[in-house]
Amino acid sequence: MSSKRIEGKPSRIGMFSCAGGSNTGQMSLKAVVAASEKFGSDRASLICLAGISSQIPGIVKGAKEREHILSADGCETQCASKTLKKFGIQPTKEIVVTRDCGIEKNHDLSDESGLETVRTKIEEEVARLVK
Ligand code: SF4
Repeated sequence: MSSKRIEGKPSRIGMFSCAGGSNTGQMSLKAVVAASEKFGSDRASLICLAGISSQIPGIVKGAKEREHILSADGCETQCASKTLKKFGIQPTKEIVVTRDCGIEKNHDLSDESGLETVRTKIEEEVARLVK
């Protein structure tokens, strides 16, 4: 499936990842990227979380135009979800890798143990939202 986004048309689902400094944070990003590749970025695309916290107008507007917002956080601190809410963007679905995928957090950024579980979880949620 093509991952190309139709110019000027936002995807139905905007996805945000904490992409934090941990195995689970990194896996949240990898799984979101995989979901975008699988469903096509015209349906589900990654949006820059830093663009929300830095209040870049085009990125904030783009996020608010999405039909659904999915946040993927590495741990219960939920930096992505909290950032979104702080700026008035309510996630439709919040995924927390440690809680929802049962993976223990550590600081080995290359540790991909459980990545398949995270990918499956995020893909299941995206599939539900695009129905
Ligand atoms: S949610 Fe957890 S893993 Fe992600 S950036 Fe915050 S503290 Fe790090």
